[in-house]
Amino acid sequence: MQFTKLRLSGFKSFVDPTELLIEAGLTGIVGPNGCGKSNLVEALQWVMGETSARRLRGGDMDDVIFGGTTSKPARNIATVAVRLDNSERTAPAQLNDQDELEIERRIDRGKGSTYRVNARETRAKDVQLLFADASSGAGSSALVGQGRIGWLINAKPNERRVLLEEAAGIGGLQSRRHEAELK
Ligand code: ATP
Ligand code: MG
Repeated sequence: MQFTKLRLSGFKSFVDPTELLIEAGLTGIVGPNGCGKSNLVEALQWVMGETSARRLRGGDMDDVIFGGTTSKPARNIATVAVRLDNSERTAPAQLNDQDELEIERRIDRGKGSTYRVNARETRAKDVQLLFADASSGAGSSALVGQGRIGWLINAKPNERRVLLEEAAGIGGLQSRRHEAELK
């Protein structure tokens, strides 16, 4: 599944509604220090279900909401939506009749996050599974964060196995088994 569009509003420095078209062949985002390049990558990570505020350089998940500047007041809501092209029909069965999927995550200050897939409210877990099946996702190795290579070199064998399972496309199966065992 190909990401085609990222839409943000009230997320970190992107206070005003912003759209980023992700076209085939897009390889880089360039701009001066502090212009929001990392914030865009973090928006993608967040909408795919990131649960750790620390991995988004915050102390609390509410820190992703625009915190205000001298000229603009803080916001209380942030939304990020990512659009996926499903023309190759690789989405999970219940969504596979759709040509496009739009996954949206919204956070209200003090109240936590909600997710929608094509405008229908969806569990965080299902959004995380959708991306895990597509071998992407908030924690996936498609996003190489600072320090990640060092982590991989020093990782224990069972930590490293997670990466191999993701590469083999069975990450989603492991999370489903874990969920089934908890029931
Ligand atoms: P560099 O080239 O240094 O890596 P960058 O383009 O990756 O820079 P980011 O780290 O994405 O820049 O953006 C940093 C900017 O985002 C800072 O100005 C910071 O104040 C702003 N920022 C981060 N979180 C928030 C927030 N919650 N509200 C408002 N602004 C925020
Ligand atoms: Mg950066």
